[in-house]
Amino acid sequence: MPELPEVETIRRQLDVRLPGRRIERATVLDPKLTAPESPQSIEDGLGGRVVRTVARRGKYLSLVLDGGDELVLHLRMTGRLHWRSGSEVDERYLRALLTFDDGSTLTFGDARRFGTARLLRAGSDDHAAYWDGRVGVEPLSADFTGRVLAELLAARRGPIKPLLLNQALVAGLGNMYVDEALFAARVHPLRVAGGLDADETRRLHRAIRDRLRVAVEAGGASIDSYRDGLGERGSMQGLLRVHLRAGDPCPRCRVPVRKTSVGGRGTYWCPSCQEDP
Ligand SMILES: [Zn+2]
Repeated sequence: MPELPEVETIRRQLDVRLPGRRIERATVLDPKLTAPESPQSIEDGLGGRVVRTVARRGKYLSLVLDGGDELVLHLRMTGRLHWRSGSEVDERYLRALLTFDDGSTLTFGDARRFGTARLLRAGSDDHAAYWDGRVGVEPLSADFTGRVLAELLAARRGPIKPLLLNQALVAGLGNMYVDEALFAARVHPLRVAGGLDADETRRLHRAIRDRLRVAVEAGGASIDSYRDGLGERGSMQGLLRVHLRAGDPCPRCRVPVRKTSVGGRGTYWCPSCQEDP
């Protein structure tokens, strides 16, 4: 499932290709993608519009259009955005297609069909209604300081991992990068969030930013279906230290990495580096 680094990789690729391009035609093949709005309504809203910029909030990718409307896309589990310079589209699970004025195309493919597309209209309350309570602080922004993380954790009695997965608190982290950040910070995934001391909180803050930055540089992780905006694989999967590495020696201490379930999510950690709560 694409997390912040995967979506940011796609954003960077699209943001050097789409701005200034006019959408000649929008085609939505799957009504589930745009529900509750009808495909026709979205197609009409997009046709003839010019892309101003490509933005990201957490795991959401937005095409910001002239006039301020915003097409917000979420890839969920298996969604894929693929830009091509021509109109030759070879997409097995095609759900939507944008054709631009230079003949280039952007496809939304999605085998599992959990991905979503919403068109937020400028001058309506769409933007506020959609974003309110949906995404918290951006972990790679200057707003995400050690102090902000400490405030988010303070007095929380639940375990740290599910808290970091809560998009309304910190936006863009998913199962893979939370495992990697907790390992880098040497914090067990079941530690009580509010029980981390100042040093552990500082390490965790640094680890979250470091792991995300490394992953963005690597173009994201292609573990299952993820491909970048040009259809290529990322290389972060080769740089994961514990996630999906059960039984492998810990890269720090050589003790075998363990796997358990935390809040229903497969969770990987080193029993020696990340002390039991
Ligand atoms: Zn270890």
